[in-house]
Amino acid sequence: MSDLRVRFAPSPTGYLHVGGARTALFNWLLARKQGGTFILRIEDTDVERSTRESVDAILQGMEWLGLDWDEGPFYQSDSFPLYREYVQRLLAEGKAYRCYCSAAELEARRELAMREGRKPKYDGTCRDRSDHPDAPSVVRFRTPQGGEVAFNDLIKGRIAFPAEELDDLIIQRTDGTPTYNFCVVIDDATMKITTVIRGDDHVNNTPRQIQLYQALGFPVPEFAHVPMILGSDKARLSKRHGATSVMAYRDMGFLPEALINYLVRLGWSHGDDEIFSREEMIQRFDIGSVGRSAGVFNPDKLLWLNAHYIKAGDPERLADLLMPHLTRRGVVISNGPVLATVVKTLQERAQTLEEMAERALFYYQAPQGYDETALAKFDGDHLAKVFQVVAEKLSTTQAGTATEFDAIFKDICAENAWKMPQVGQPLRIALSGGTQAPGIGEIVETLGREESVRRIRVLSNVIAGV
Ligand code: GLU
Repeated sequence: MSDLRVRFAPSPTGYLHVGGARTALFNWLLARKQGGTFILRIEDTDVERSTRESVDAILQGMEWLGLDWDEGPFYQSDSFPLYREYVQRLLAEGKAYRCYCSAAELEARRELAMREGRKPKYDGTCRDRSDHPDAPSVVRFRTPQGGEVAFNDLIKGRIAFPAEELDDLIIQRTDGTPTYNFCVVIDDATMKITTVIRGDDHVNNTPRQIQLYQALGFPVPEFAHVPMILGSDKARLSKRHGATSVMAYRDMGFLPEALINYLVRLGWSHGDDEIFSREEMIQRFDIGSVGRSAGVFNPDKLLWLNAHYIKAGDPERLADLLMPHLTRRGVVISNGPVLATVVKTLQERAQTLEEMAERALFYYQAPQGYDETALAKFDGDHLAKVFQVVAEKLSTTQAGTATEFDAIFKDICAENAWKMPQVGQPLRIALSGGTQAPGIGEIVETLGREESVRRIRVLSNVIAGV
């Protein structure tokens, strides 16, 4: 074990977004690489917007992606007494003060500053007051003045903010609840986080947080701000560009390893390598080589990776993952072929499990209709002959494997002076309803001879008008 301690700290106000998942992944990879500790913290202090459903969705997304955490989930809402304690400490040390300015007063001063062309900033009215009026108050941090607050971001390099831009931050509201930046600092400090990896929408919070660490006498962690993910139009990735929820990708038939592989490569590279197993990712990942610029989400590349992982996947596992996609389509597999066998015939061609489920339907449901255009390419007599010859042959043979069936079809072609597509296509249509199907031998092996003959006779009768 190393001393490295990192955390993923989502706010449960929605599902797990692919951007959040990538931040979680980078944290997880670093922890696994260095033998550190990965902590999951739910930032639910915004009680209005936080929901239990969202927490569940985030946990589900993390689990689906295989991003296991070592400690937590911790909930900020369980730590209010802790935050209050630290507010009291800052007050006692004179590093924070009570501010009695009302919202209306602050608004009026803000407007005046704007009119006079000054930056609206808390003017310090209550900074040095010694009376304690019996009136509602917030607690403000006495922000150190002068100089600059700087840090070396592990991704973006040195970032500095002039201290004068940072006004006296409210750390506790009138109702006694702590504010966001304060909670984050107390948690990161008490959880002994050594490296904060988060989205770069938080860069502006970092100098304020650093000042709080210093005021409280906590060591300041390292920071790594991960660039945003953009859509193809270079705007921040949003629903407008397609699905952004991790679980939506599961439902669309993506494998978790494909999404993980896609996300790690988005803004990080290791030579020209595209495919990374989990172990390779852990070995090679380096937070310092995450790119500084935002990555553009490319659905085609994700699809390509998914097809790769489907092709290379273990049929038994794929069958388990495929099951919900079939159930959603009302398919009952108990009376049909073993699902893993079906998967083997479809792995080469399906880019997603949704597509695989569509292609698997015919194995469990005999065709309800046929591709008329494809059928029309053959004349009726030819079709009748093919179906008759094949049905007869399949009824009498002892053959059982795809190779043996393919050999039979080859013989039939030779005996009748037919070319393979003249037999293959009509058979595909009879067996599956269309022409987009696996090899004929594979289909017959998977469906079984009896069911194959039955389906051939059904179409034969349809054509004969019986
Ligand atoms: N809760 C914040 C968010 O969901 C993350 C804060 C942090 O990582 O410091 O964006």
